[in-house]
Amino acid sequence: MIIGGGPGGYEAALVAGHLGAEVTLLERRGIGGAAVLTDVVPSKTLIATADVLGVVADSAELGIRDADSATSPAAGSLTVDLDAANRRVRGLAHAQSEDIAASVREAGVRILEATGRLRGPDRVEAVGENGEVLETIDADVVLLAVGATPRQLADSPADGKRILTWTQLYHLTQLPEHLIVVGSGVTGAEFASAYRSLGSEVTLVSSRDQVLPGSDTDAADVLENVFARRGVRLKARSRAAGARVEGDGVVVTLQSGEEIRGSHVLMAIGAVPATDGLGLEEAGIRLRPSGHVETDRVSRTSVRGVYAAGDCTGVNPLASVAAMQGRIAMHHALGEAVSPLIAAQISSAIFTSPEIATVGCSEQDVREGRIDARVLTKPLGTNPRAKMQGISDGFVKLMVRHGSHVVAGAVVVAPRASELIMPFALAVTHRLTAEQLASTFTVYPSLSGSLSEVARQALWGD
Ligand SMILES: Cc1cc2nc3c(=O)[nH]c(=O)nc-3n(C[C@H](O)[C@H](O)[C@H](O)COP(=O)(O)OP(=O)(O)OC[C@H]3O[C@@H](n4cnc5c(N)ncnc54)[C@H](O)[C@@H]3O)c2cc1C
Repeated sequence: MIIGGGPGGYEAALVAGHLGAEVTLLERRGIGGAAVLTDVVPSKTLIATADVLGVVADSAELGIRDADSATSPAAGSLTVDLDAANRRVRGLAHAQSEDIAASVREAGVRILEATGRLRGPDRVEAVGENGEVLETIDADVVLLAVGATPRQLADSPADGKRILTWTQLYHLTQLPEHLIVVGSGVTGAEFASAYRSLGSEVTLVSSRDQVLPGSDTDAADVLENVFARRGVRLKARSRAAGARVEGDGVVVTLQSGEEIRGSHVLMAIGAVPATDGLGLEEAGIRLRPSGHVETDRVSRTSVRGVYAAGDCTGVNPLASVAAMQGRIAMHHALGEAVSPLIAAQISSAIFTSPEIATVGCSEQDVREGRIDARVLTKPLGTNPRAKMQGISDGFVKLMVRHGSHVVAGAVVVAPRASELIMPFALAVTHRLTAEQLASTFTVYPSLSGSLSEVARQALWGD
């Protein structure tokens, strides 16, 4: 029994189905989960539109001019039809959900549209829309992959029109004139970046000194500089206390008492695990105080036969991690060889402009003595391809272990950094050395040339 059809659940269902298990996947909304319907797929699809406008806005240096006015194609000379863009977003998400459902069925998995609830560790109730129990299913193995939902301010719930969570953005038909983004974590930063490129005025409210708390500080610096240049207004060290609709706009009140006025506000203040009312505690499954399910590195919960994967576990909230946890759970449960999840090998990206991608250990791990490594950095501005393309923001950073020169971690800040990180992910996972990276041919000219160049720096004295 798998409860939840996001990447944690559907990837597990595919594995279990292909291994010959009898599998029922319970999903109450749509296969693909939040990842496909409201989070990853829609956000990255909208960002694809924003990226085009961003590139055009920065193209004056390359000799591009507006055909009508012969001026630079500054942001604003092109506009977005947000209704059309959002229809594309929703259509693509829906199609992706259907594709996944088809492949899950093909693997022999039964999909049941219902809400799942435990009745003990090995019995699941499938509950219909009106609270009626549709089926009670006994299971040898249960996987919880119920994900998380957007956190909201208690006194200012989203209305879906002007006070929005990220799941509600794709029904906007007109570009917000002035979007206030509350929260400068990954989600807040991505939407602030995208909506600015789309042409909205953007104010980003951040409770911290720097955007992207917990990320590489040099990367956050680059992003803050780009935000400042592009006109994103940053309200640092400011906590939102509430938001209200006033006339045809919104007012966000900060804890300092200051008020910010805009046309819309996006609440990007984190997510809450969807573990309430699932019958977990009654089944003896240990939860953390945050409500996340406690798991080990092979996705086992505190109760034998019950596994958990994805955002409900509080391990890195990424679709790729959810999928890996789900696959690991099924391999373990069905007696296959299994490699535990290794957090130090996870690669991830923040889809701002420029993108920020990381893998392995951080510079902070080195500075605080957790990893004995050198930190090598190469600014992207010196890369010949970057110069040709008019790219000046960004860098490549490599953490290389002293002595062995094994690559322990990396950061890439660049357009398409999400693609450029792969060689470093390969190096971290397979313990390749800086020498091996440095002696690999790269195309000339290419941004990836900087990847081997930074590795070459490791060979110059230790
Ligand atoms: C805006 C945004 C952008 C993101 N972008 C990225 C990205 O680019 N890359 C990346 O790797 N990650 C990204 N993430 C994170 C990613 O979306 C999550 O890590 C991922 O969705 C987690 O997958 P999951 O399977 O745990 O849960 P989900 O995708 O949330 O799926 C859980 C499913 O369980 C269902 N469910 C819940 N309770 C029950 C129940 N009782 N019975 C039946 N069904 C139930 C829900 O309806 C839902 O469909 C992003 C997140 C956000 C918010």
